[in-house]
Parts: sequence; structure tokens; C-alpha cells
Amino acid sequence: MLVESPLTDRFARTFGYLRLSLTEKCNFSCSYCLPDGSECHSMEGDLSLIEIRRLVTAFALLGTQKIRLTGGEPSLRRDLCDIIKTCKNVAGINSVALTTNGFRLEKDVASWRAAGLDALNVSIDSLRPEMFQLITGSGKLRSILTGLDEAQALGFKQLKINTVLLREQNARELDDFLAFIKTRRITLRFIELMRTGDNADFFARQHLSGESIQQRLLSEGWTQKIRSANAGPAKEFIHPDYLGSIGLIMPYSKNFCADCNRLRVSSKAELYLCLFAEQHQSMRALLQRDDPQPLMNFLRAALQHKTASHDLQNQITGSTRHLAMIGG
Ligand code: SAM
Ligand code: SF4
Repeated sequence: MLVESPLTDRFARTFGYLRLSLTEKCNFSCSYCLPDGSECHSMEGDLSLIEIRRLVTAFALLGTQKIRLTGGEPSLRRDLCDIIKTCKNVAGINSVALTTNGFRLEKDVASWRAAGLDALNVSIDSLRPEMFQLITGSGKLRSILTGLDEAQALGFKQLKINTVLLREQNARELDDFLAFIKTRRITLRFIELMRTGDNADFFARQHLSGESIQQRLLSEGWTQKIRSANAGPAKEFIHPDYLGSIGLIMPYSKNFCADCNRLRVSSKAELYLCLFAEQHQSMRALLQRDDPQPLMNFLRAALQHKTASHDLQNQITGSTRHLAMIGG
């Protein structure tokens, strides 16, 4: 496939990674995201399979190689396997990944893999069933862990756990998490809680910097892996006695945005230049024609408005009320 000049912004960052939200709807009520549950009850107006194919084709022609399907909860889409296949079949796409809360993992992971899914992130905020229930509102931890074991046997290129660091809810479980990855070839990523429009009070109580974990890992013989170019914003740590590794995502750290390599599209076809931008442009009209060129022109022009960094340090969270709107 002939890639036209890759998507590049004013700060010489290139964007080969698209995070695509399939729906805002979610069936969990995570304390930091949707504590009162999802307000979105219908999936009407979410991107159709044809729109997804057109969108991914235009991105691929501009150098995108990796797609992550997210949400809301992407596995609520009945056509998830078709979406995975569709993305996989677009020339130039060499990796299709999924981020899920795992509620369908045990039942569906084999069919996702058979459809062509390459990589999987499962969000698990606690390994203790009561704490998991308290954080997510779900009693499915056991089934999610069984699904994760199945996923390990299916030969995914990458298998990761996402854990949002919460001062009062899971910060004391570091030993459990480390024991969990000792014998499993999994990357467990601690994500610092991000402030969004809806969670200011929760953030003030629960935010914990990843620095404390980094210090502890370094003092216990973990070393930071050298990152490849365009590896994204996580720092990764390894230890000779552990099969798995630990990732740290620290969005409040200096220069976090310097390595930004991703763009986001909502399930309503809006382009998000940043998780925390104020305004987003709709691409819906451009997706009604089977011609990638106008969409590519739009994307090239839009990229020139991407800012150097988010402004979270100044409590500016843009129009993002919670990350279920766009997928984190
Ligand atoms: N529902 C799926 C899930 O939970 O994996 C996909 C969407 S969810 C918005 C994507 C990721 O964002 C999850 O790992 C979740 O834990 C994380 N997340 C949500 N809100 C967050 C916040 N305020 N700060 C940091 N991470 C957050
Ligand atoms: Fe749903 Fe994911 Fe948000 Fe939890 S983090 S409420 S699973 S969208």
C-alpha cells in the first residue's frame, strides 16, 4: 500500500496509532469513571461497520498501523468480531488491539482471537473480589481472571492489565499485583488517576502519583526497559525473577505529551486531537462517501491544531466529563 506523507503535527510528532471508541455505553460503574453507571442507554448512532472501514482506510493511507478498539465497553457491540476482521483487512493495519473491562472475556476471547485480534488490555483494578466489586460495581472478577488465563493460552502478541492507581482503594495491593505477574507473561500497567470533568472530588481524595511505585520497584531490583521510538507514554520495568513486567503511566509527569503518537475517534465519529481538548470535529459527513481523499485532507489540516500538551496540571480537563466518552 502506498502511504502518502504520514500524519505529522507542528511539533514533528507522527501519529501511527488510532484509538477508536465503539460505543459510550458501559455496563460497569467504576468509581473513577461512571460512579452512577452509564447515562448512555442506546447504541444508536454509533459508528457502523461501513463507516469504520472507511475511517480506518483513510487513517491507514496516512500511515496508521495500529488500531485500538475501546469505549465505553466495546464488547457490548454484537458485531465486535466483524469490526475486528474489518480493521484487520484494511491494507497497512498490522495490529488490532482491544481494551475491555473483561465481562465477556471468558465467553468470547477465543472468537476475538480467531477474528484476528492481536493484542488485549483488560482492566483489573483489584485482585480481591470485594474491592473489585467496590471499585467497578461488578462481581465478575473470577470470570475475568479465568478469561485472562484463556487469553494467555491463545498466543496474543501482547497481553496487558490496566490498573488505575487509587490511594484508598487498591494502593495497598502492590504485593498481590507483583505476585500475580511473577509467573505470568503479562504487562501490568498502573495508570495514574486522571482528573476529568465529573470526578474532581474523587480525584482530590484518590490520586496517587506513580513516583512512589517507581521508587519501590527500583529499590527492589527492577530496571527500566529502554523504550523504542514511538513506544508511547508508559515506562516499563522488568525484573529477572518475574515473567511479567510493570508499566507506569504518569500523565502528570514532565514531558508526558512529548512522545504522543495517538489520535482518538469517538463512537459518534468525532476526532479528538487530545483526551482533554475542549472541542472536537465531526467526521460523520465525510464518512458517507466511499472516497478516502476528503477525509485524509481533513485529518492533515486538523492535525495542525493539535497542542503541544494537555493542561491537566492547571485542572483544565477540556470537555471530557469521563473517559467512557472516548476510551482513555
Ligand atoms: N471499558 C473499557 C475498560 O474499562 O477497559 C474500555 C474503556 S476505559 C475508559 C479505558 C481505560 O481507561 C480503562 O483501563 C480505565 O481503567 C481507564 N480510565 C477510565 N477513567 C480513568 C481516569 N479518570 N483516569 C485514569 N484512567 C482511567
Ligand atoms: Fe466502564 Fe471502562 Fe469506565 Fe469502567 S473504566 S466505567 S468499565 S468505561
